[in-house]
Parts: sequence; structure tokens; C-alpha cells
Amino acid sequence: MHDAHDANKAPPASPAAVDLVLLVAARDEAASLPLLHPRLLAVAEGLGPGVRLLYVDDGSRDATWDLLQGFVAGAPDRVGALRLSRNFGKELALTAGLDHVPEGAAVVVLDADGQDPPELVPALVARWRAGAEVVYGRRTRREGEPWLKRATAAAFYRVINALSDTPIPRDTGDFRLLGPRAVAALRGLRERQRFMKGLFAWVGFRAEAFDYERAPRLAGTSKFNYWRLWNLALEGITGFSTVPLRVATYVGLVSAAGAFVYGLWIILKTLLWGDPVAGWPSLMVAVAFLGGLQLMALGIIGEYLGRLYLEAKQRPLYLVDEARLPP
Ligand code: UDP
Ligand code: MG
Repeated sequence: MHDAHDANKAPPASPAAVDLVLLVAARDEAASLPLLHPRLLAVAEGLGPGVRLLYVDDGSRDATWDLLQGFVAGAPDRVGALRLSRNFGKELALTAGLDHVPEGAAVVVLDADGQDPPELVPALVARWRAGAEVVYGRRTRREGEPWLKRATAAAFYRVINALSDTPIPRDTGDFRLLGPRAVAALRGLRERQRFMKGLFAWVGFRAEAFDYERAPRLAGTSKFNYWRLWNLALEGITGFSTVPLRVATYVGLVSAAGAFVYGLWIILKTLLWGDPVAGWPSLMVAVAFLGGLQLMALGIIGEYLGRLYLEAKQRPLYLVDEARLPP
């Protein structure tokens, strides 16, 4: 695969240099991994000696780590595995993986459940060789996903793209190839509150979409329930947009203007027709409505402030418990 390097990409230092890493984050995937690993290995071998696999065990409670150690033992110069000290979530597991990719290598990110077919990797690599720095998988069909998930996903992309300054391509997952420059750029983004799809889009470079059919899970169940997805969506919106803060300002301005007009009307009414001490219902409505708006605005500020607080603590993004990396 070394002939793939054109003038833009640094030539490998030695024949054994790593030029591509297939990165897989896994949490409790003991049922899928034995099915996926042989496929990934075959793809890596087909692509050449400079292609490696890197698994990140994101605090699994099942036999995932034992399996990964077995994979490493089976091909120690090609397969590496990292074990995080606990479950940090997929976004941070991928970050840990990217941090452990050898300098100058491109990365393909895949799910551990086989939803991103490894057999498509050579096609992604071909697009990269043809000059794209980032090749992202775009799902043409979401096989085996309930309609509610598809509908909420569609709504999410609409909202985030209306709010965010960085356009985030819809129906893209984390399945993608990142060239060495994109990998280096991503490594430089050390924010704790991470929304990888947004960060991938933020780094820019020449990006091309690659349409594929997302396969159903090989085994096991999805780790992302709706509550987690909702939180991921909040992460995405707060991480890539300050529009909600501005909305709070404008809602406040509009309701203040409304209150001012209403106040004028009350004064006028009292002057013209006296003050019969009525209007308890309208008073309650105004108090309750404004109280609600104030709490909502405080909540929005709180979301941003909380994230600021978490960033300010400067804790490491993840902790590695054990690393078994190829020499
Ligand atoms: N994953 C992870 N850490 C987590 C949750 C999930 O590394 O805390 C991995 C999981 O093992 C899988 C990928 O992230 O490889 C996608 O997860 P899943 O298939 O559950 O999500 P879905 O495809 O349903 O969106
Ligand atoms: Mg999945």
C-alpha cells in the first residue's frame, strides 16, 4: 500500500511503518467481536503489511477484554488493544484510540457490532488515495432500526444544522476514514464534552461522502437508548452552537416588550374606566408564564455553565488501564 502515498502524504519511515489503523471501540461486545474480528483481519491483510487493528475496550463487563487479548495474541504485530479504566462512553473511547494511533497513519473508525461492514474499508481507502482527506460513510438505509430512532435522528440533524455554525452531514455515523492530517487535527481538540460527529465536521479538509447500507447488529443490543441519545444531542447542540443562549435573550426581550405594552394598557384602562380591582386571572397567567420563561432561560444558561465547569476542571479525558500495542 506504500505506492498509495502521493506527494502530499509523508512516505513511511520503514517498510513496516503503519499507514492505516482500523479503530474499533467496544463496550460489552463479546457476542459480536468473534464474528467481526476475522473479517477485519482479512481486510487488513488484504490491504497490506502497514494496516493494523486497534480495539478499545470501553469498560466492558463481559468477556470483551479476554477476547481482545486473544486477538492480540493471535496476531501481535498487527492487532493492538487498549482497555480503559472504566466506561467513558464511545466518544472518549474513540478519542483514546486516536491518541494511540502511530504518527502519520490514517484511521478508519468502525463499530464493533458489524453495522459498519469491514468489507467496505478498501473502497474508503481508494477514495483517500484518490485525494480525499476524510471519507465519511453516509447511511442510505438504516437496517434494523425502529422508526422512532430514524425519526428522532432526522429531527436531530434538522435542529443541529439549523443551530450550528459547522454543518454536520446528516445520516453519517462515526464510520469514516480520517487521513493523517485530520487525525492530527482531531488530536488537538481536547474538549471534555465531545460530540465526535461535530468534531469530525469541524476539522474540515477535503471530505467526501460514501453511501452504504448500514447492516443490522451482528449480535447483542444497542447501547444507546433514547435517554443517552437525547444527552448526546444536547452535547452536540451545546458544543456547536450558542444559539439557545441567544434565543433566551430574545424570548426575554419579546416578553418584556409585551409586558410593557400590557402595562400601558392597564394604566390607560384605569384612567378611563377606574380600577374595579379585577384581573386576578390575568395576573396569575402573567406570573406563571414569566416564571416559566425565567426558569427556562436559567436552565439554558445552566447547561452551558455546567459544561464550562467540567472543562475548567481539566481532568484527563480518559484513563488507560492496560495497553497491548504492536511494537
Ligand atoms: N460503545 C462504546 N462505549 C459505550 C457505548 C457503545 O464503545 O459506552 C460502542 C459499541 O460497542 C459499538 C459502538 O459504540 O461498537 C456503537 O454502539 P451501538 O451499536 O450500541 O450504537 P448504535 O449502533 O445502536 O447507535
Ligand atoms: Mg450499533
